[in-house]
Amino acid sequence: MHDGSCLCGAVKYRIDVPIESASHCHCSQCRKGHGAAFGSYATVPWSSFAWAAGEDSVARYTSSPGVTRTFCQHCGATLQWYSDAHPETVGVTLGTLDTPLGVVPQKHIYTESKAGWYIIADGLPQEPGS
Ligand SMILES: [Zn+2]
Ligand SMILES: [Zn+2]
Repeated sequence: MHDGSCLCGAVKYRIDVPIESASHCHCSQCRKGHGAAFGSYATVPWSSFAWAAGEDSVARYTSSPGVTRTFCQHCGATLQWYSDAHPETVGVTLGTLDTPLGVVPQKHIYTESKAGWYIIADGLPQEPGS
């Protein structure tokens, strides 16, 4: 259904289900991890996610207890976010998708932590927390 890859192309993945929604997370960890105003993710079942290439290039960082962020160890592209609190699902970074997302519901989350220099003006729902 979807293919994705990192900046350098060493890591590729496949998602075997349609992506049904997307979240733009403004928490400080996503901002720093992405080096951007927010991180954009689709949440999909682990059972639908598979590495297609370069799994040995995927590095893992525990950003808080029980929370893991993965990235390509060659180019630094952020790839996943997952939590022990939600063991069935994985958040996949939308910026690494190579296939069109299509029209799905989107929202901003953790807007109470957003960067002061960024103004959300797209009309999407905003949630102060998750
Ligand atoms: Zn890479
Ligand atoms: Zn976040």
